[in-house]
Amino acid sequence: MRSDTVTKPSEAMRKAMANAEVGDDVFGEDPTMNRLQETVAELLGKESALFVPSGVMSNQLALKTHTTPGDEVIVERDSHIFNYETGAPSLLSGVQINPVPGVRGLMTAKDVEDAIRPDVYYMMPTRLVCVENTHNRGGGSIYPMKLIEEIRDVAVKHGLKYHLDGARLWNASVATGIKVSEYAKHFDSVSVCLSKGLGAPVGSVLTGTREYIGRAKRFRKIFGGGMRQAGILAAAGLYALENNFRRLAEDHEKAKNFARILSESSMFEVNVGHVETNIIIFGIKHRIGIEKFIAEAKSAGVLLSAGSAGKLRAVTHLDVSMENVRKAAETLTKMSAS
Ligand SMILES: *Cc1c(COP(=O)(O)O)cnc(C)c1O
Repeated sequence: MRSDTVTKPSEAMRKAMANAEVGDDVFGEDPTMNRLQETVAELLGKESALFVPSGVMSNQLALKTHTTPGDEVIVERDSHIFNYETGAPSLLSGVQINPVPGVRGLMTAKDVEDAIRPDVYYMMPTRLVCVENTHNRGGGSIYPMKLIEEIRDVAVKHGLKYHLDGARLWNASVATGIKVSEYAKHFDSVSVCLSKGLGAPVGSVLTGTREYIGRAKRFRKIFGGGMRQAGILAAAGLYALENNFRRLAEDHEKAKNFARILSESSMFEVNVGHVETNIIIFGIKHRIGIEKFIAEAKSAGVLLSAGSAGKLRAVTHLDVSMENVRKAAETLTKMSAS
């Protein structure tokens, strides 16, 4: 339960990959890749889509295509772009990040507006605002539509571009019943991952206008992301969208159950109400450091990871059953009691 990226392709997905019709995607001749990109663009209600090897490349292409060196980009302080992309915005785009603190990953529209630089020659121009939905370090939290709209209004008012890191947008959509296109329509660009909860082995997709994606495609080549018979990977993505999207509801149910069992033990600090999707962030009360706890949990057969600020993190996914998750929670409860 360390992450929803640890899933392995099922037999049926591998079969779809093995049978994929392929061509050279650098020439735009891979039919399966073209079908995946059209499918994702249509799902998100965008003109165009581009497959890339990772979520990091997708976000960084988005930044590169929206900005010029010397610009500033507003993100939430716990965001993936700020914390887990190895400083790429400075290296690849020559931009400065302006991190705005949020609560469980959610920024207010006012805080975003206050972070925008005035138009004076000795400050860098603010060019872009990024939102992460669901929010990874925020514990799988969902941005309410009203907040997405309020931040969009600020972006429009100040002439900024608006990017969505939707690595887990699928989870937000299944949890709220709001279509991914309803979320996507507020943004200039949207990145989605196929390799998280959807269970594909590799791949993310960046979407936007035809003109924008055309420019992003050039940068993808520069970043070394132009691939050849990539239809094998696209086939996994198409299989994942068809078979593993709606079932994310089960992962959310598993996560709530996990949190509920932990909450019955006085050893854990967990807010069941905060578990909105497939991520559980929790604390331990009377215990040694979390690294030691993670090691002990591992010996007992439960794999966890460290969350931010001394917290533990568990994630549910395709390859852990409801029974596995219940057993894992009970194991932790017994561990902490001993
Ligand atoms: C995982 C993740 C990414 C990056 O995806 P990789 O495929 O690991 O590069 C980007 N944003 C968020 C919110 C993520 O959780």
